[in-house]
Amino acid sequence: MNVELITIGNEVLSGRTLDTNFAQIARALEEVNVTVAWHATVGDTLERIGEAIRHALSRADAVVVTGGLGPTPDDVTRKAVAAVLGRKLQLNEQVLESIRERARRQGRTLPASVESQALLPTGAHVLPNPVGTAPGLLLMHHDTPVFLMPGVPQEMEAILRESVVPWLRDRAGQRVATVTLRTSGVSESALQEKIGGLATHWPGATLAYLPSYFGVDLRVTAAGADAVTVERLAERARAELLDRVEAVVYAEGGRTMEDVVGEALVARGLTIAVAESCTGGLLAKRLTDTPGSSRYVERGYVTYSNAAKIELLGVSEADLERYGAVSAEVATQMARGAAERARAGVGVGVTGIAGPDGGTEAKPVGTVFIGVSDSAGVAVRRVALFGTRATIRERAAQTALDVVRRRILGLPLETKLD
Ligand code: AMP
Ligand code: MG
Repeated sequence: MNVELITIGNEVLSGRTLDTNFAQIARALEEVNVTVAWHATVGDTLERIGEAIRHALSRADAVVVTGGLGPTPDDVTRKAVAAVLGRKLQLNEQVLESIRERARRQGRTLPASVESQALLPTGAHVLPNPVGTAPGLLLMHHDTPVFLMPGVPQEMEAILRESVVPWLRDRAGQRVATVTLRTSGVSESALQEKIGGLATHWPGATLAYLPSYFGVDLRVTAAGADAVTVERLAERARAELLDRVEAVVYAEGGRTMEDVVGEALVARGLTIAVAESCTGGLLAKRLTDTPGSSRYVERGYVTYSNAAKIELLGVSEADLERYGAVSAEVATQMARGAAERARAGVGVGVTGIAGPDGGTEAKPVGTVFIGVSDSAGVAVRRVALFGTRATIRERAAQTALDVVRRRILGLPLETKLD
């Protein structure tokens, strides 16, 4: 099945708004094995929108459109689609009532313009929008579905997940099972070398390497006509992959490193305190991204200066002089200081050089020391990260979380594939 995507909006076309809707839709469809064949972005004009939709209808099996469903006069998608499909715009009382009801619940009075969102092309099926006023719409043009969704990303995503993806998945007639293994601390090429041509032995399943600065995700997509066969294939692929790379897998599915760390802390009844230099609070932010983290996050210290490391964590002034702020000794003392002063079960210390300046031959930009302290003592790990200042900091936080995870679970602190 060939799907075409059209994103609408002057703000997208000018580059001021990044087209994240496109990425979200394409990823969601890929998960159910529906291929996107073409993507276009057009401004908020009747002619351009009409042209893009006509073009898509001439060759696609389904058309997915976002943007331009708002209440203001510059939102003309409904009008353009009605014109292309030869429909009238008609007031839909039910949609109007649900818009009013929503406003009542929130204690707002509605500007009259909002009611334009209830003007729908005739024959449109309403796709519920649980998070906003403009509903999604489905129009059938002969056999070809045209989906319209608002541009606001949260609203688009809700309609996409609840209505559009299930519809297209069923239409494609495929059963799909996916497995995601999340790895950290190894490169894509190292994984490829280890995994080799394994996927060529999986009939109907593909393997994708998805790198980001959190690590490389391995995603298996198994597809076929029979649900049981597809599930079995996905399970076999998972087992074969784990057999080769389990040592660097920290989570499966959509779970994050901080979720995994949180779960490990809760299971052992431990709390955590973090002391950060080069990550400037990012580690504490990541840990507290997980709902319910108040059960185990005790506190965070952002100790950027030497004085802060000495005063708040009890790092030795002499050692700061002798070894430098970016050193195994200081990371160790930061971790221990955080745990002791916060009376937490686990303490973490992160100190490194995020760049772009400050590197030396012995300690180039990207050098990071991570200390982790618990009742068994303190361990420290040195890593060499690469990238810009921003990505080095992200990677440092991710690596620190992985070090904590490994320490709690009793795994070797070093990431090695075998
Ligand atoms: P609209 O439905 O066109 O009124 O869009 C409302 C808002 O959603 C816009 O002001 C943008 O901030 C955002 N938006 C629209 N299209 C996109 C897109 N393709 N990707 C990300 N955000 C978008
Ligand atoms: Mg718009």
